[in-house]
Amino acid sequence: MITTFKDLADVLVCPLCHSKLSWQDHSLFCNNCSDSFAVSDGIPEMCRGINHLPALFADDHQRADALRSYAKDMSVPDLIRQCYQLAACRTPSSLEITTKYMLDGEARMRATIGEFRQVAAQRKWPLPCAGTALDLGCGVGTTTGHLTRDFDMVFGVNPACDEMVVAEKVNREWFHNRITLLRAFGEHLPFQDRFFDLVCAVDVIEHVANPLAVLKEVERILKPGGMLLLTSPNQFNAVSPDGHVQVRFVGFFPDQWREPYVRWRSGGCSWRKRNVQPLSYWRLTKHLKQLSTCAWHVNKPVMLGPKSGPRTRFICALPGLRHLVNWLLHALGKEHLALVRKLDN
Ligand SMILES: [Zn+2]
Repeated sequence: MITTFKDLADVLVCPLCHSKLSWQDHSLFCNNCSDSFAVSDGIPEMCRGINHLPALFADDHQRADALRSYAKDMSVPDLIRQCYQLAACRTPSSLEITTKYMLDGEARMRATIGEFRQVAAQRKWPLPCAGTALDLGCGVGTTTGHLTRDFDMVFGVNPACDEMVVAEKVNREWFHNRITLLRAFGEHLPFQDRFFDLVCAVDVIEHVANPLAVLKEVERILKPGGMLLLTSPNQFNAVSPDGHVQVRFVGFFPDQWREPYVRWRSGGCSWRKRNVQPLSYWRLTKHLKQLSTCAWHVNKPVMLGPKSGPRTRFICALPGLRHLVNWLLHALGKEHLALVRKLDN
């Protein structure tokens, strides 16, 4: 666990040049590019390298200032609701769904890791359960909290300064400050090579500017044998409404039609302001194939369990039909679960 900024300077690197940092004048300082990273509310601001920010970040600092003024007197659930009420066009029901989703973060992370544990066991890959862990795109920090149960050093990274105001309170009141929070972009992470045993990116990759660059950064910071647990909604999800706006089939429409379609179907939610770009199965696996030092596996719903009925057994007995069903599950399922393992060398 990191308790001082001097300790933090020892483990972090410059997000752009990866040189060592030092703690000078209440900032983290890169001796190579002479860039300094201020610390605000105890959270280092290390957002560098992305120049064209999405609409989501346009009035981010103003929203964070407003939230800071509420943070002292509001409870965590109320502050979470306030954060998303300020953030983007949401209908009252969609606001409640987002708030509940964030409040359930710890249980959700436990369930997600449980699912990945099964996938890892099938591949005979031991899932890391101690050491260093990163919650990449940590939201308001509720998911990150679950990692503090097993891991000695836990980081939560998120570029959004409004959510980080909430995360700071969540960390302090719920998790005894055991999380080290940082503001940074996934494309330029301030960590040394081979630093993490586990990286979780739970429903994050669909929100980043450059998914491949983020995956390559994760590949760089994973230890050999370390793992990335990645979940992400499927662009061609044909079975359930999109989790961000609770509207079906958004990903089937061309880009320019999505905003009016979502506004019409949801009764006022904005798609553009949510900054979502879900990946198809093919897009995701195309990116994963570029990771030369990793093995990976994208899970699909289990077809032939011990309790499967005669219909499922019939499908699985016919090789052609089985392929078709597997293909449909990958292509049109609700979400992707990708387990990525950095190879030993
Ligand atoms: Zn630098």
